[in-house]
Parts: sequence; C-alpha cells; structure tokens
Amino acid sequence: MEKRFASAWKTKEELAAGQLAGLQWTVRHAYEGSPFYRKRLDEAGVTPAAIRSLDDLRRLPFVTAQDLRDQYPWPLLAVPMDKIVRMHASTGTTGKRKVMVYTAKDIDDWANMFARCYETAELTRADRVQICVGYGVWTAGVGFQLGCERFGALAIPAGPGNIDLQLQFLVDFKTTVLCCTASMALLLAEEIDQRGLREKIHVKKVIFGAERSSDALRNQVKHLTGAEHIFDIPGLTEVYGPGTGLDCPYHTGIHYWADYYLLEILNPETLEPVAEGEVGEMVYTTLKKEGAPLLRYRSRDLTRIIPGQCPCGSLMPRHDRIVGRSDDMFIVRGVNIYPSHIDEILSRQRGIASEYQIHLDHHGDGKDYMVTKVERAEGGNPAGDAELASRIEKAIRKETLVSGKVEIVDYQALPRTERKAKRVFDHRT
Ligand code: ZN
Repeated sequence: MEKRFASAWKTKEELAAGQLAGLQWTVRHAYEGSPFYRKRLDEAGVTPAAIRSLDDLRRLPFVTAQDLRDQYPWPLLAVPMDKIVRMHASTGTTGKRKVMVYTAKDIDDWANMFARCYETAELTRADRVQICVGYGVWTAGVGFQLGCERFGALAIPAGPGNIDLQLQFLVDFKTTVLCCTASMALLLAEEIDQRGLREKIHVKKVIFGAERSSDALRNQVKHLTGAEHIFDIPGLTEVYGPGTGLDCPYHTGIHYWADYYLLEILNPETLEPVAEGEVGEMVYTTLKKEGAPLLRYRSRDLTRIIPGQCPCGSLMPRHDRIVGRSDDMFIVRGVNIYPSHIDEILSRQRGIASEYQIHLDHHGDGKDYMVTKVERAEGGNPAGDAELASRIEKAIRKETLVSGKVEIVDYQALPRTERKAKRVFDHRT
C-alpha cells in the first residue's frame, strides 16, 4: 500500500541530515523570534551558528512546564501574533493552564503527523472512525478529527461519555475504528457484551489515548468487542497534541515521528542521557514548529527507547509505552523508584486486590525503610498473609534492588477515591 504520509527521508543518513537542518532552523527561529529563548540562549552562551551537529543539542538549555506557566498566556511565542491561527490549552488542574499557539503550517504539520498514525495502523479511506474523546480547548478531539480528515477516512465526532449514543453510533454507522481512553473502551466493551450487541458491532481497531492500560484490560476489550488490534497514541499539547507516534501492527513499541522532533531520554536527577533501553524522562526538541517551538522541553513523562529495528522495517525509532511521571519518583537507599514500577510488580501477583500504599520512613537511624501496604484479595484467608507478604517482598527486591517490608491489610482497608489515588507517603522529612 502506498504510504502517503511517510517521512520524506528514506535512510538513516537522510533522517540525520534532515534532523540537523531542522535543529539549526529551530534554534535560529527561536533566537530571532522569541525574547525568552534569546535570553536563555545568551545566558547559556549558545548562538544559532554554534549548532553544527546533532550532538550540539546537549549544549542547549532546558525548558520546563514552569517556564510555560510563567509566560502565560502566550509562552514561547516566536512569530508575530497575526501569524497565529489557533490556540490550545492543557487540561492542567493546578495553576495556570499551559497554552500553546499554532501557525497555519503548524496545523498542517500536525495533520500530517496524525494522518501518519492512522496510516501506521493500516486504516483505509473506507474506515469509519468514531472519536469518543473530548472536543474543546484541549487537543484531543480536534487532533483525532484533523488527522482523520487529512487521512481521508470518515470521522464520526461522537465526543466523550453518553454510552447509549456511542452504542447506537457503533451499530448504525458500522464504525470500524474506535478512538477513546482505555477506561472508556472497557466501559463500552462491557455494555456491548451485556446488551448482546457483539454481532452488530464492526470495530476492528481501537486507538487508546495517553492513559496507561494493563494487558488484562486490553485483552478484555479485544475479547468483548471483537477488535483485532489495540494501538497506543501518545501526545502532549506542548508537542502539537496527540499523534506524536503510534505502534505498528507488530506492536513492538511506539514508532515516533523523528522527522518532526528529537526525543532525548534523560535521567531526571542528573539530566544526563540514560543507557540505551533504560527508563528516563522524555525531553522534546521540535524541528519544524513555528508558533511555539520547543528546545529541550522536559515533559516529566517516563519511558525507554526500544533498541533495534522493528520487523515492519520503518525508519522511525521506537519508544515504550509511558510508564509514569518523573515527579512521582522517589529515592530509597540511593535507588530511583517509580510508583508505576511497584504497580506493575503488584499487578502480576495473585491473592491481592488492586489498592496499595508505599510508606517511607527513617525510624530515627537515618536509613531508608520502605513498607508497601497491600490489600488481601476479596474473600482471601488471613492465615496466608505471611507467605503472601514474603513472596511479594522477594518480587520487589528482585526487580527494584531495594528490600522492604510488605504488610497485608484487609480487603477495602485502604481508602478509595474517584480521583487519582495517593500512593506514596514519605515520612522521612
Ligand atoms: Zn513497526
């Protein structure tokens, strides 16, 4: 099948040369168009002419979410305001929203990136794409819609929620591709099952938004809907929006669009690159963005690069699913630990419920102590607690290299919340 939205660069050498040209253009554009960047680059002693190789990326100063908030409402603006045709904002719960501006070319580039996602998932123009994510000032619905129209499939802008309407659309319009969050997909899949609609549903592919999802959930959605593939679409408002990459039908990791941005994976403490394949913070530098270009933007999202070549033969490199946020990281006895890692270890254990808490303490002697409280499964026998705890302690020690205690508590002993649960309690200060 003809790839209409593939990178224009066909070899590693061409890609690297294109990336360098993009980096040089971006640094000059930012320096000349944005007082903020000019000041930062001057302070760092870097002129646009000093960027001679891709390694010179490391000489550039970082940009953080705080920088964006400080410049509210138009952070990183690098063109005259009359060249801006659109703005989007993050859903940010605390402080001011992160607002991003787009030129007409930025919108065009984003449409092409997103159309490439649909192409990577091997959609055709005959596909009918039900978009069940939020439309509004944020980038979700608008991004899925833009990419779908550029690609040329039929967009069904259903928006989020309203299960009855979603099910009616799925049946009446013979939707073949569903775009939604993982939790929405599960909800829809269970309703399809309960209402006996399975035979009337034509969904072949599901594209999940940024939310983390377990393999168990993915299998359940496939099983109940009859979908053949589930794809992960990452993205963030700062880098256009959703559509910065997609896993191909081999599902070996997310191919990211390295002709549009450079991705560094850095240790969030030292800001040095991690070893290849290790988890670190995703740091973005855009190569074509005009309205609000990014130079080494620290996203706080964590993932790892997947080394080697995908069987699909794509030139585009791969990163893993996003495993968490660097803000959530804590250090125990010199080891960096992410709650998502503990979460992952616990999700493989039998005999426990899904809730847990991590408590860190000093107990007066200055050493770090970690206690993980885990709920016994519903109906579990307390007589087995000691064995269960010891088994989980071993698993945590083996995978994190930190030994800690595991305490089994009664089912539903830990608090439930509709919002994101607090997992880590640091009593060491
Ligand atoms: Zn691939």
